Amino acid sequence: MSISIKSPAEIEVMRRACHIQSEILNQVCAAAKAGISTAELNALAENLCRERKVIPAFKNYHGFPAAICASVNDHVVHGIPSAEEILQDGDIIAIDFGVILEKFYADACRTIPIGQVSGEAEKLIERTRESLYRGIAAARAGNTTGHIGYAVEGYVRQFGYSPVRETVGHGIGHHLHEDPEVPNWGRPGTGIALRPGMTICIEPIINRGTSEILTEKDGWTTRTKDGKLSAHFEHQILITAGEPEVLTNWDSVSHKY
Ligand code: MG
Repeated sequence: MSISIKSPAEIEVMRRACHIQSEILNQVCAAAKAGISTAELNALAENLCRERKVIPAFKNYHGFPAAICASVNDHVVHGIPSAEEILQDGDIIAIDFGVILEKFYADACRTIPIGQVSGEAEKLIERTRESLYRGIAAARAGNTTGHIGYAVEGYVRQFGYSPVRETVGHGIGHHLHEDPEVPNWGRPGTGIALRPGMTICIEPIINRGTSEILTEKDGWTTRTKDGKLSAHFEHQILITAGEPEVLTNWDSVSHKY
């Protein structure tokens, strides 16, 4: 798939798609409390999609059975929501979610604490979120995808954390996953050159221990091999001639970069 440069009209649709995506994501995150199941969170996301007249982008994507990926604690990505999975005080959960509006995709993810979490969990969440903004800061025309990966990995390695190797950021537009790939590691100047009009998702998926992961029997859910926690944050952004524009606005203080 070649890399597409979006027109101003296409970017305008993507802004609206991302705005709706982020509002729904935040509503689902607000409902994520001890005692609720991840299946209930998924049902909420599906209802909100109907209300807002958007299509849940992940449902039936390569056979994925739900609107959200719900990855709890040592689950890394692609967790399938379940009525048996009840959130507990002290858990952390990554909620990854996408919508389609007028044939354009929006995709973003947040990891949140449930009730009182350990200091380690809190630090992992905050540092993974920070690594996303470091990556965004590097996402400028003239730089490459390697600048982004270098910024993300360089930040998290100092804490002994590891970026997951199996899942990477990506271009997005008429398809959920377009070129280029945006790995959470790399070297400045390597990878694909960033140009104004490209829309990409940057999504650090960071393990507190080893980068190694295992896939559960359901064929989707992955978890860390060492059983340590994993966190995941994602924004969809537009490369411009100047500062990158963050299209998904789930973070009300997303102007740190
Ligand atoms: Mg994504």
